[in-house]
Amino acid sequence: MPRASAVSAPPPSAWPDAGALHDAAARWYAANARVLPWRGVPDPYAALVAEVMLQQTQVERVIPQYEAFLAAFPTLRALAAAEPAAVIRQWAGMGYNRRAVHLSALARRVVEERGGRLPETAAELRELPGIGPYTAAAIACFAFGERAAVLDTNVYRVLSRVVHGVNAPARVAVAPLAESLLPPEGAAMTPSDWHQALMDVGATVCDARRPDCPRCPFRERCAAAPFLQPPGNAALARASIPYAPRQSKFHGSARYFRGRIVDFLRAQPGGCATEREVEAAMRAAEAASGAPPPRSAQELLAALERDGLVRREGGRVRLP
Ligand code: SF4
Repeated sequence: MPRASAVSAPPPSAWPDAGALHDAAARWYAANARVLPWRGVPDPYAALVAEVMLQQTQVERVIPQYEAFLAAFPTLRALAAAEPAAVIRQWAGMGYNRRAVHLSALARRVVEERGGRLPETAAELRELPGIGPYTAAAIACFAFGERAAVLDTNVYRVLSRVVHGVNAPARVAVAPLAESLLPPEGAAMTPSDWHQALMDVGATVCDARRPDCPRCPFRERCAAAPFLQPPGNAALARASIPYAPRQSKFHGSARYFRGRIVDFLRAQPGGCATEREVEAAMRAAEAASGAPPPRSAQELLAALERDGLVRREGGRVRLP
């Protein structure tokens, strides 16, 4: 087996032929695409909800939450008309509750300023609350067909392995590669299907630790495949993944205790409690987590208020 050091980052002229990759991806995707409830739905609002949920939550957890959210708020106008507290309640179980506040604000702004029509380009979508570069590109590409590179963790890993082998560059170096491999205008494979195929290859075949190259549509053109088969060399597999920052510890973190405060308020009539009740809920969360909160209840409440997740008045706290 060749050694990892034998592989160096190839120049752009040595990148695989994009058309051949698209053909291989299209054949594989036609037979192996994952069935996901947001795929093929001709409603940009559904794409928006799915992409915001997928920002920080795994696909399996998102599926039931996505369906329940659309049942509760079937249109952007319905979401805009709802109290933010109702949206935060509906977000229960998802974590990163600020996403619910952003979605609520986004819906109101799009209804007020654009008559309820979402912008169609990634550049315009990025102007909306809670929409970063990745989510903007995903909505523009999947809902509106824009030729935008959609770089999630799976896409980074697959493209990096195919071109850079087991010497992964920083993520930033994969972006121009992703741009250059986009299907051209009028190609048989749409940019949307190309990215969905890459995501599915990453999720079901090109596993971070044990890629299953014999099942992969790119095996004949992948620079990493000769190094990673048979699977089992954890060091090489790790070296072939573009660097991504590790998520910090959740239990006992400020994020954990903020989440417990919001959970507590969700369970209260009217989403409202006294600050003393919130402090008691914090002590219960501390006992359950076995770690003291890194901030006081007052500091956490102040942060939640800044983020639009609670309001405080006269010693009482409530969902907005
Ligand atoms: S051939 Fe192997 S390493 Fe390359 S993209 Fe496919 S599964 Fe990943």
